[in-house]
Amino acid sequence: AQRVAGVLSDGPASLPLRDGTMLEFWANIGSVRDSMAAAAAGVAGAGLVRTEFLFLDRPDAPSEAEQQDRIAALLAPLAGRPVVLRVLDAGADKPMPFLALAHEDNPALGVRGLRALLRRPDFFRAHLRAILRAGAGMDLRIMMPMVTVADEMRAARALVAETCRALAIAVPPVGAMIEVPAAALRVRDLVEGCDFFSIGTNDLTQYVMAAERGQQALAAFADAAHPAVLDLCAHVVAQAAGRPVSVCGEAAGDPRTARLLVEAGIRRLSMGVARLASVRTCFATGLP
Ligand code: PEP
Ligand code: MG
Repeated sequence: AQRVAGVLSDGPASLPLRDGTMLEFWANIGSVRDSMAAAAAGVAGAGLVRTEFLFLDRPDAPSEAEQQDRIAALLAPLAGRPVVLRVLDAGADKPMPFLALAHEDNPALGVRGLRALLRRPDFFRAHLRAILRAGAGMDLRIMMPMVTVADEMRAARALVAETCRALAIAVPPVGAMIEVPAAALRVRDLVEGCDFFSIGTNDLTQYVMAAERGQQALAAFADAAHPAVLDLCAHVVAQAAGRPVSVCGEAAGDPRTARLLVEAGIRRLSMGVARLASVRTCFATGLP
């Protein structure tokens, strides 16, 4: 085995389960270093590329050219693998002055993710152009964060399609993060506008359990393995009309919870590269 960035991690991109289906291991990416480690670790693809790194801790938005260059650098090590790139997931809890998001007492329930982007269509268009150009020649898929209702997905898809038309390129697969209970319960309403789904168990757990992420006093509730969360995951798989459903929250990288997610029907786990070794080991030694 090979040691990458201090992590013993290379191994199979997927494993067969007893029922004949394959369980796939994907990586979450937030830096070039992550991309290189994921490629060396032999993952099936990048299931969540977070783009927040481009925007945090600066007063102005990076130019379209800078976004394109930095995203291209992030994607380069992953050439040849499917890459799910999430558009900016901003909110009043992540200071991004250029978006001029109003102060909110409860940012988790506020104007964040796709809600924020749809209120800034010019910014969103430039962001999409940068992403689409950076992804030229890659197996790129675009994912929307904090989707709540089908109308938001329709609006987001229309902007992607319009941008692709202007660039004279084919429209890539477009999918939704499922991290809001309304979206999870009514995933069938999203099927028409989505080519894939990815369950964000970090936020989904926060909203299902009514327990703020990172609130130490509520840590006992922040449990993605709670049956309420797992039942919703199973519901999403059952209602997704055959669209791929992955999990890209921390739960995918926790062996105990990952097993429960697989029992709920999930066959695509996307996790931080540092989590791969223990999750692979757990499934290689006793497949469900
Ligand atoms: C999630 O909510 O599970 C997720 C993957 O997104 P983030 O942690 O970036 O909010
Ligand atoms: Mg989230």
